[in-house]
Amino acid sequence: MARRADRMTRPQLHVVTSETTRTHCPYCAFQCGMTVTTNQVDHQEVTIKADADFPVNRGQMCVKGFTAGALLDHPARLRRPQLRTHAGTLAPVAWDTALDFIAEKLIALRDAYGPAALGAFGGGCLTNEKAYLLGKFVRVVLRSPHIDYNGRYCMASAAAGQNLAFGLDRGLPFPVADIADARTLMLWGSNCADTMPPIMQWIFAQKDSGGALIVVDPRKTDTTRAATLHLQLTPGTDLALANGLLHLAIAERLIDADYIERRTEGFDDVRRAVLTSDPSHVERLTGVPIHQQLHAVRLLAQAPSSMTLSGRGAEQQSTGTDTVLALINLMLALGKVGKPASGYGCLTGQGNGQGGREHGQKADQLPGYRLIENPEHRAEIARIWGIAPEALPHKGKSAYELLDALGPDGGIRALLVVGSNVAVASPHASNIARKLRLLDLLVVCDAFENETTAAAHVVLPTTQWAEEEGTMTNLEGRVILRQRVQSAPPGVRSDLDVLGALAARLGHAEGFQFASTRDVFDELRRATAGARADYSGITYEKLRENQGVFWPCPSNEHPGTPRLFADAFPHPSGRARFHAVPTRRAAELPDAEYPLYLTTGRYKEHYNSGAQTRRVAQLVDARPEPRLQIHPRLAARLGVSEGETLLVESRRGAVRFAVSLSSDIRPDTLFAPFHWGGKRAVNLLTNPALDPISRMPEFKVCAVRARAAESRVESVS
Ligand code: SF4
Repeated sequence: MARRADRMTRPQLHVVTSETTRTHCPYCAFQCGMTVTTNQVDHQEVTIKADADFPVNRGQMCVKGFTAGALLDHPARLRRPQLRTHAGTLAPVAWDTALDFIAEKLIALRDAYGPAALGAFGGGCLTNEKAYLLGKFVRVVLRSPHIDYNGRYCMASAAAGQNLAFGLDRGLPFPVADIADARTLMLWGSNCADTMPPIMQWIFAQKDSGGALIVVDPRKTDTTRAATLHLQLTPGTDLALANGLLHLAIAERLIDADYIERRTEGFDDVRRAVLTSDPSHVERLTGVPIHQQLHAVRLLAQAPSSMTLSGRGAEQQSTGTDTVLALINLMLALGKVGKPASGYGCLTGQGNGQGGREHGQKADQLPGYRLIENPEHRAEIARIWGIAPEALPHKGKSAYELLDALGPDGGIRALLVVGSNVAVASPHASNIARKLRLLDLLVVCDAFENETTAAAHVVLPTTQWAEEEGTMTNLEGRVILRQRVQSAPPGVRSDLDVLGALAARLGHAEGFQFASTRDVFDELRRATAGARADYSGITYEKLRENQGVFWPCPSNEHPGTPRLFADAFPHPSGRARFHAVPTRRAAELPDAEYPLYLTTGRYKEHYNSGAQTRRVAQLVDARPEPRLQIHPRLAARLGVSEGETLLVESRRGAVRFAVSLSSDIRPDTLFAPFHWGGKRAVNLLTNPALDPISRMPEFKVCAVRARAAESRVESVS
C-alpha cells in the first residue's frame, strides 16, 4: 500500500503553520493509527484524526484517542522534579539534586540490606525500548531480582496458557483482520464494544457476511447485544463452562480426531478430566442452560472456520490460566488452531502489554521472551550485557507479591515505579497504599501526579506518548513505531535519560548511555536474536514502510510472521499440548455474610486507573464518577433508587457508590469500574487471591454485601 509521507508540512503563504505526524494512540493494545496536527508556533492547537491507512483501525478510533491531545501541554503536567521535604510536602528541585538523592539512597539501602532490598515496577504503557532498559537497569545496575509490571494484572493468564499449550505467547496469532473471516467467533469475557470500540468493525464484518457471534459474559453489554448467542454465566464459573463445552463436543462426536492425532499431544488426559463436566452439572454451576451450551459447541464445531478470543473476564481470576487452557483445549479438540481465520487468541489490554513482557520487565523473563531461569537464556543475555551469567539475578516476585513485600517486613525498601499507578490498579488497594508508605524510598516517574506519586519521596517528570519516538507491540504481535509529534516541555526528561543518569551515578555509565531511542532498539534487536520473540530483523525504517512488522522477524530480509502455527507449534515435538484442568471455583464465593458477587471492568471513556483520562475534560464530563451497576430487583430489596448511594463492603474494605439501575446485570451481582482512586477505588474491595501459575489477581470476582448508605462513611479498610 502506498503511504503518505510520515510527517507532512502544510505551507501557507510560504509560512509553515502546522505539521502533521502519523503516530499511535497512547492507550490500549489496539494502538490505533492516528494523525496529529500541531500548531508549529505554540503547540496550543492539536488536531487528532484516525489514520485511514493503518490496517488495524482503518480510520476509526474511540473517544479516548480523539481526545488524547488534551494531555499535551496540559496545565497539570509535571515539569520539575519534586522531593519530599522534612515537613512532608513535595517541593520542586533541580534534576541533579533529585538524581543525586535517589542514587545516594539506593547505594545506602543496598549496602545496608543487599540488592534484593531494591525493586522496580513498570507499566504496559512503556515502549519496548523503555521496558528493555528498565529490565536491564534492575538486573545489571541494582542487581535485584525484583522487577515486575502491571501487565501481570492484565494479560498474564493468557500468556501462561498460550506458553503451556502452544510454546509461544503472542496475543493474537493472526492479524485482527482475520476476525472478519471467522464463520463463528466466540468472545469470552470481553466487552470490546466499550474497551476497544474500533475492533467492532471487524466483528460487524464477520456478522454481516453471515457469521455467528457467541459472547460469554455475566452482564449484558453492547458487545452481547451484537451477539447471536449470549451465554450469561455466573461470575467465576468460566472454567466450569469451558470444560463443559469440551465434554459436549466429545459426547456429540464433534471433535476432529485426525487433527488431534496429527498435531497435538495429551488429549486422553483431558478427555478423562472433562468426563464429570456433564451438561446438567455445568448448568447448575454456571447458570447456562444445556440447550445454549449445545448451541455454542455446534456453532464452533460445524463452522468451516471458528475462533475464540478471550478478554479479562476469563483471565482475571484465580482460575485464569486454567480457563485459558480449557478454551485452548476446546479449540484444539475441534481441530481449529493454526487453520485460516481460526484458533484461540487473547485481546491484549494495555498499549504495550505484549512488548512489555517480551523484553524483560516481567519477574521471570529476559528480552526476547527468554526465561530468566534457563541457563542458556541467561548466558545469551549476560553476553549482550557484558556481565557474567552468575551475576544475573534470578526470578523475582510477581506484581502483587512484590508490592505486598514493600517495607521492613517484606524486605523491599526502595521502589522505582515507571508508568504505573499501583495505588489504584492493585487489588486490596488499601494494603498496597499502606505498604507504599513503609518504603524508605519511593521514586515515581510519570507525566502527571496520581495516587501513587502522593506517597513518593521523589517524583520525576517524564515524557509522554507523543513527545518521543519508540516502538510498541500491539495485540496482534505487530511491532509499530510511535512517532514523536512534538518536543517535551522544558524540565521534562525521557525515562531512558533517567535510567541512564541513575546508572551513571551508580557506577554503570557504560551500557546505559544511548544517543537515541533507535540505539536502544538496536541493542534490543541483538538481545532478541534467536529468541522466541525475535525482533532482530525489525528496523525503524521497516516499521515506517510496512505499517508495522509481526514478530518473529529473524533477519533484515524477513517480512515478519503475521500468522502462527499453520504447520507446527514451537514445542520440541512440533505439537500443541492439551492440559487437563479440573474445574475449580473462584477463591471467594458469596456466603451468608457477604451474599453478592462483585465484578469490575471499564467504561469506554476511561482507561485503566484513570491517571490520564481523568485529566481530559471531555471524558470527565461524559463520565464524571463511577456508578455501581445493580439490578432493579436487588436495588428494591436494598431500598435504593437510581442515583442514591449504596455502601458496598468486602472483607477488605468498603466503598460508597451512587447506583445505576439496569437489568443488564444479574440480580446476584454488582459491577463497578476501576478507573478511580482514593475513596472511590473499587480495588479497595477486590480480592488479591492469585492464579497459581500466572500470579494474576482475581479482579473479576469477590464476595460483597451492600446496604443503603446512612452516613458519609466512604471507605473503610
Ligand atoms: S483507546 Fe484503544 S481503541 Fe481507543 S483510540 Fe486508543 S487505541 Fe484505539
